[in-house]
Amino acid sequence: MSLLEVRQLSKRFGGNIAVDEVSFVLNPGELLALIGPNGAGKSTTFNMMGGQLPASQGSVKLDGKELLGLSSRNIAHQGVGRTFQIAATFASLSVVENVQMALLSHHRRIFSFWRPAAGLYRDEAMHLLGQVNMQDQAERPCSELAYGDVKRVELAMSLAGNPRVLLMDEPTAGMAPAERHALVGLVKELVVQRQLAVLFTEHSMDVVFAHADRVIVLARGKLIAQGSVDEVRQHPKVQEVYFGSGKTMGPDILQEGA
Ligand code: ADP
Ligand code: MG
Repeated sequence: MSLLEVRQLSKRFGGNIAVDEVSFVLNPGELLALIGPNGAGKSTTFNMMGGQLPASQGSVKLDGKELLGLSSRNIAHQGVGRTFQIAATFASLSVVENVQMALLSHHRRIFSFWRPAAGLYRDEAMHLLGQVNMQDQAERPCSELAYGDVKRVELAMSLAGNPRVLLMDEPTAGMAPAERHALVGLVKELVVQRQLAVLFTEHSMDVVFAHADRVIVLARGKLIAQGSVDEVRQHPKVQEVYFGSGKTMGPDILQEGA
């Protein structure tokens, strides 16, 4: 049995089927990329898995336990985390205080009785910052950080929930190519070290092919291919979806928009 099993997952918006009977598995120590053109259903898939959006049909099991129907908070407590968005960091608090806040939230402590100067979970927060190489910026306000560093703090904050599975929808949005490689490379290290299972989307195929262990491909809501980087790169259906048939795929040719 795999750690996470997604079966026949579907979402209808009125007459439109955004996600159509998608099935895949995810295992500890695995970095799985979900790719596909804009509108393919990637974010909808994430939102159903994370409990932000009810599914129309299907199942998402963690260690055999059904997650669909649980609240997003409950799903997080079962061990399926999501990366925080920028807005979730408190700009006026320091880097380490933001991670302490995430730890407090995970341990369900009441925010209002906590003062930023308090040492609650400070050691644990510093340890998490060490894992994302942000220890030396711990005392800086988040408002002063470079964009790529904010993303690393967000990663530390999502680790505060001690997830077994991490869902990352476009974690490198807005980043330059070198920063994208650095962030996904860091995620890959954490996947190996912590035996995390990570599902992520990424527009740069160069980044996907460099770091992902396995790739699944969505087009118009349907899973059209899955396999190793090389298998997916050469898959006729993938080639067809992206460029019509016959052309070979260069490292960055699938990149959209970014
Ligand atoms: P992706 O993340 O792969 O770009 P999305 O999951 O955001 O794709 O969208 C998949 C499809 O579902 C698109 O056709 C989109 O317009 C539609 N969709 C997404 N969210 C909603 C919604 N809340 N209501 C109606 N249609 C939606
Ligand atoms: Mg999306």
